[in-house]
Formats: sequence, structure tokens, C-alpha cells
Amino acid sequence: MTKPAFKYEFGGPIGAAANVLLLPVLTLCLCYWASIGRVDFEQVLTDGTCQDNRLSLLSKFAESEVLCPSCGNIERLITCALVIMCWFLFQVGLERFLPCQLVDGAPLPDHSGRRLTYRINGHLALWMTLLLLDVAWPHWIDIGSNEDQKTVLVFGRAPFTWLYDNYSTLALATIIWTFFLSTYLYLKSFGKGLLLAAGGNSGSTAYDFFLGRELNPRWGSFDWKEFCELRPGLIGWMLLNISMLAKQYERLGYATGSMILVNLFQGVYVWDALYQEKAILTTMDITTDGFGFMLCFGDLAWVPFTYSLQARYLVDHDPHLSPPALAAILGVNCAGYLIFRGANGQKDAFRRDPTSPEVSHLQFMQTKRGTKLLTSGWWGLARKINYTGDWIMGLSWCMLCGFESVVPYFYAIYFAILLVHRSIRDDHMCKEKYGEDWEKYKDLVPYRFFPGVI
Ligand code: NDP
Repeated sequence: MTKPAFKYEFGGPIGAAANVLLLPVLTLCLCYWASIGRVDFEQVLTDGTCQDNRLSLLSKFAESEVLCPSCGNIERLITCALVIMCWFLFQVGLERFLPCQLVDGAPLPDHSGRRLTYRINGHLALWMTLLLLDVAWPHWIDIGSNEDQKTVLVFGRAPFTWLYDNYSTLALATIIWTFFLSTYLYLKSFGKGLLLAAGGNSGSTAYDFFLGRELNPRWGSFDWKEFCELRPGLIGWMLLNISMLAKQYERLGYATGSMILVNLFQGVYVWDALYQEKAILTTMDITTDGFGFMLCFGDLAWVPFTYSLQARYLVDHDPHLSPPALAAILGVNCAGYLIFRGANGQKDAFRRDPTSPEVSHLQFMQTKRGTKLLTSGWWGLARKINYTGDWIMGLSWCMLCGFESVVPYFYAIYFAILLVHRSIRDDHMCKEKYGEDWEKYKDLVPYRFFPGVI
């Protein structure tokens, strides 16, 4: 019998290679565009041609804070690389040494019935990080008069604005780190007896490097994928936002409504993910996808440096929205959060214990696979109603930046594409898991995102 052809996603090896090369460039371009407040399409189109002696996009880049060695900024890159390393190791330390709950993940897909155990303490790590950066950052200060001057060590708030001042260079240093880490993970995946991800084991180097070969790379009990999904990138995103707020405060003497709200909305989003850390153990990223460049770069570089674009934009281009406009956007965000948290919480509670009082009244469909699919409550409205809530929240973050530029709306555009693509991937996987039951379920819940619309 001939082996069935491998089913490629993301445009196969060429699409994967293009993603590996273009996503880092796009990340750096977005950092630059957020600082100048617009995308200069004419410049992008003529980039590289040097028509009319115009500076190319890359040389413009080098002029900005993003460094190039020939601009004498190599020291800045080295400093940022060290900061990124210290940040990563600091988070590893918190994961290792803070008290934790030991929680079993979903059964592994090798049909052995085995489950991996995870150290769940991300929520505590978040608060510990904020506390230490608020009160325990070491500063050396000079005290005393000229003749009797002494330098003493004191502890206080970290200089958050440094992150704003070095934003693009930090992004570049992080991107370089993700290339090293993904290469290590790819090479490590050829070790003996490791469980490989079904989707990342095609035999094509470019494709497998991107998708990730090994399902759960670990050093002892340290799980690289679960750690990177939630900690350095997600908490780093929150710190970058705080640095934007600090910078705006330093410049204006106050923080604008948009800046406060973007910090609040995205801060709640990060807090929620860490507070619900256990819920990630049953998501596609953990149970199905390998840990390759896609997740490594996505978690560590893409999330913090492109999700913080709204706050970055607001430092230089705040639209000074009126209180009614801010109140309306607050309403949009709350509606999105209600749907997002309501739907994810309902499914999580149902998967843990369908007889618990909060979900026992809901209707469901029993499948031949043994699991039940909810057909009422949030999940009776649309099959991916949780994605809809997530996207609405994201849209409200962009709206805080007004309507002058498309740059802050990058998130809503990109996230719509990601969620549509992700829903198609999940639909395929569910078809394989549930067979004809999935079609019956789709007849019962016909809409994907918006009830009555799509
Ligand atoms: P889901 O939480 O939608 O999980 C999909 C799985 O849930 C399916 O494979 C199926 O697995 C189960 N399921 C589907 N329908 C039902 C039903 N009716 N009843 C019970 N179980 C059902 O997907 P994700 O893991 O992709 O997303 C989780 C959250 O993370 C979402 O809110 C998403 O928006 C967010 N997210 C955010 C990202 C970001 O960058 N900000 C990126 C990706 C996701 P089974 O039946 O095997 O249990």
C-alpha cells in the first residue's frame, strides 16, 4: 500500500520559507511605521530601487533607532541581546522556583494514555515580575556634598522608558534569539524516542523548521513550548505597554484616556491568559502543533512587538478622543471580553465536568468518539463564538488610536486572517476526530462566527 501524501498547510515548504523570512521583516517594519505613524506605500514600492536618490526603506530604518553595525549601534544591539537573555532566564527562574500547581495535560496523541505534567505558576510569575520591577530595581545614586560624596545602592522602580527608547532594537535582538532557539529545537528533534507532531514531520527542512517537529520539547520537567506560550512574550508585551505609558507621561505630564485604556484592556487580556493558564493545556498549540519557528517566533517576538503597536503609536500620535468616544470603545471591549471569556469558560467547565451546576443545564450532542459537543449556550450561537469575542476586543484596542492611520489597525486585520485560518484548521482536525458526527454538529450549529450572518 502506498503512503498517503503529506497534507501541507501554510502554502507548503515555499510558504513556510516565506513566512520565516518575511515575518521578522514585517515585525521590524511595523515597529518603524508605528513610530512614524503611517505606512509610506510609495517608499515601500520603490524600496531597493533608489529612484531619485530616495533613501530605501532599509537605510531609513538604519537611521531610526533600529540599528545597523555600520551606524555604530552594535553596542546597543549587544545590550538589548543581554537584556533579552536576562529577561528569559529571569522568567525561567520564576517558573522553576515559585510555588506551583502540578497539572496533567491532555492525553498524548501516541495512544499510550500518557499525559505530561506541567508546572502552573504563570499567574504568580506575572505578579512577582510586576512587584519586583516596581520596587526592587537596583539604582546607584550619589549622595553627600562634593568633598564627601558616596555612591550607594538603592532599590526602586525600574526605568520603564528604556524599553520605549530601545523598542526596535529589542525586537531585533528577540528575533535573532528566536532563530537560535528554533534552530536548536529543530536539531534537538532528531534525538531518539521523541514524540513528533503529525503536522511538522514532512521531511522538508523549511517546512518542518517552521511548523516544528517535536511535539513537546522538554529539559526534564521544563516544557519549552508551554513556557514560551505564556511567559516571556506575554508578560513582556505588558511591560512594553507600561513603558509606552511611562514615556507619554514623561513627555506630557499626564497619560491620555486612550493610553490608559489600551494598557487596561491588554493588561486584562494578559492577566486573563495567565490566570487561566491550565486552559492552554487543551489548546491546539499544546496538543497538536510542534514547537518550531512558527510558535517560537510568534510567542517571543511577534506577540510582544506587534501586539504593543497601539500603545507605541499612541506615544507619538494620540488622537485625544473625547470621553463619549472612549466610553463607547470601553463598551465594545467589555462586549468582546464577555463573549470571549463566557465561551471559553463554558467549554472549559464542560470539558472538565459536564455535570457541574454551571454547565449541567446546557444541551449537547453525544459523539461516537465518546466526547460531547455543546449545542446551546455560547456554543449554540456559533461554532467559533470565542474567536468572535477575541476579535471584537482586538478591534476596540485599535479604535483607541482613532482613524488617522492604518498602522494600529494592523492587529485587527492580521487577527481576522489568523482566526479564519485557525478555524479552518480546527474544522479539518475535528472532521478527522469526529467523522460524520462533525457534519451533524455543523447542521445543529450552522454559523461559524456571527449567528445569523456567517
Ligand atoms: P478552541 O478553544 O475553539 O478549541 C477548539 C477545540 O474545542 C476543538 O478542537 C474541539 O476539541 C473543542 N470543541 C469545539 N467545539 C466544541 C463544542 N461545541 N463543545 C465542546 N468542545 C468543542 O480553539 P483555540 O485553542 O484555537 O482557541 C482558544 C482561545 O485562544 C480562543 O478564544 C482564541 O481566540 C484564542 N487565541 C488567541 C490568539 C492570540 O494570538 N491572541 C491565538 C490563538 C488563539 P475537542 O472536542 O477534542 O475537545
